[in-house]
Amino acid sequence: MQKENNNKGKKLECSFCGRGEDQVEKLISGPDVFICDKCVRLCSGIIEKPQEAAASSQKEKKGQEASPPLEFKALKPREIKDKLDEYIIGQEVAKKAISVAVYNHYKRILNRNLSDKVEFGKSNVLLFGPTGSGKTLIARTLAQILDVPFAIADATTLTEAGYVGEDVENIILRLLQSVDYDVARAELGIVYIDEIDKINRTSSNVSITRDVSGEGVQQALLKIVEGTVANVPPKGGRKHPHQEYIKVNTENILFIAGGAFVSLEKIIARRLGKGTIGFLPDAKEGITVEGLDRNTLLSKAEPEDLIQFGMIPEFVGRFHSVVNCNELGIDDLVRILTEPKNSVVKQFQALFEMDNVKLTFTEDALLAIAEKAKKSGTGARALRMILENLMRELMFEVPSDMSVKEVIFSKESVMNGALPTLIRNNEETA
Ligand code: ADP
Repeated sequence: MQKENNNKGKKLECSFCGRGEDQVEKLISGPDVFICDKCVRLCSGIIEKPQEAAASSQKEKKGQEASPPLEFKALKPREIKDKLDEYIIGQEVAKKAISVAVYNHYKRILNRNLSDKVEFGKSNVLLFGPTGSGKTLIARTLAQILDVPFAIADATTLTEAGYVGEDVENIILRLLQSVDYDVARAELGIVYIDEIDKINRTSSNVSITRDVSGEGVQQALLKIVEGTVANVPPKGGRKHPHQEYIKVNTENILFIAGGAFVSLEKIIARRLGKGTIGFLPDAKEGITVEGLDRNTLLSKAEPEDLIQFGMIPEFVGRFHSVVNCNELGIDDLVRILTEPKNSVVKQFQALFEMDNVKLTFTEDALLAIAEKAKKSGTGARALRMILENLMRELMFEVPSDMSVKEVIFSKESVMNGALPTLIRNNEETA
């Protein structure tokens, strides 16, 4: 910049260090103030410092560095659970446990200045349970309730550095992208890592894009999950030298890992000394559950069972809450159809209402849909698909048929594809 000389007769000097204009190379002017090149360099050093400090030592920085604004709703466990209840049916134990874990996680962040006195462990959550039992839904709903960013990653696409596949840092990239690269906001987000059970030690060839052992991926995830300053490639893909990275501190990101952990109950049964002769219908391969059903056994899971399953101890050790989502029963599935704020039935009813048509399901129709879903083995995930199939023809015809005022689905129309009852204007409802 230019030396400022239009203050005639007056000797110009840096307003910060007092050096005269003849002692410095450059003097930059503002309204009635001046700053010299040396002070500019010093100031940019100060501005850069917090980032470097974060990278070199997270422990040192606690309580000293300027805190980023904390943008999330601080709710009590009961409030979190009440909100979860609006969207998630059943899974009472899981909802309670996760509400407590999440409350503690964000309490730790709010009181981080106290953490000089007490070292708070990070409370990541491991959710296991069959597919379609609500694991992803719980994580996603939590993020909505707390108003924090959310991202889903698939563990099977990840790899340790140097192999084909995605670097683990891409998990954080998704979070960043969801908030338009607002690092401070991303650093308070929730990441759901799905299919975590597929990266167990023994798993091989779960993905054609991954040529490393599951154990390698678990190792690669350790640091990120525990809390580190991750170098995130802004455009994703493989990291390479000479690339610019975005530094994201993962210390306050809540990681929720989820997986089906198929047959984990057998490992638990064996540990509990119940591994002799099976007599329950689902006790396959000679593993007994002596009076304990699958859900009860899974509720007794311990970290050692997960290690036995093939998770490495260091990885399991980073998830302080291990929570089980039950396999959903027929009753749960019926409730899922109708009760949640955004249930599929409510959504279809709202769609029909826009065409002034009332959509009704008899009780046994709902039961039949739930039974079909149960048979599919994909839990509540199947409900939407079954309903979509039932509705397809109607969604096509009804908007053009102005005389229809109500559509009633019965058990027969669900089971045998029989046409639902259509009530037209000037007709009485049966
Ligand atoms: P997963 O356990 O495989 O992660 P998801 O959470 O993805 O299952 O569930 C798939 C869909 O099924 C959800 O989007 C939701 O519509 C429905 N669903 C599953 N479990 C529940 C539940 N407990 N309460 C309400 N809806 C559920």
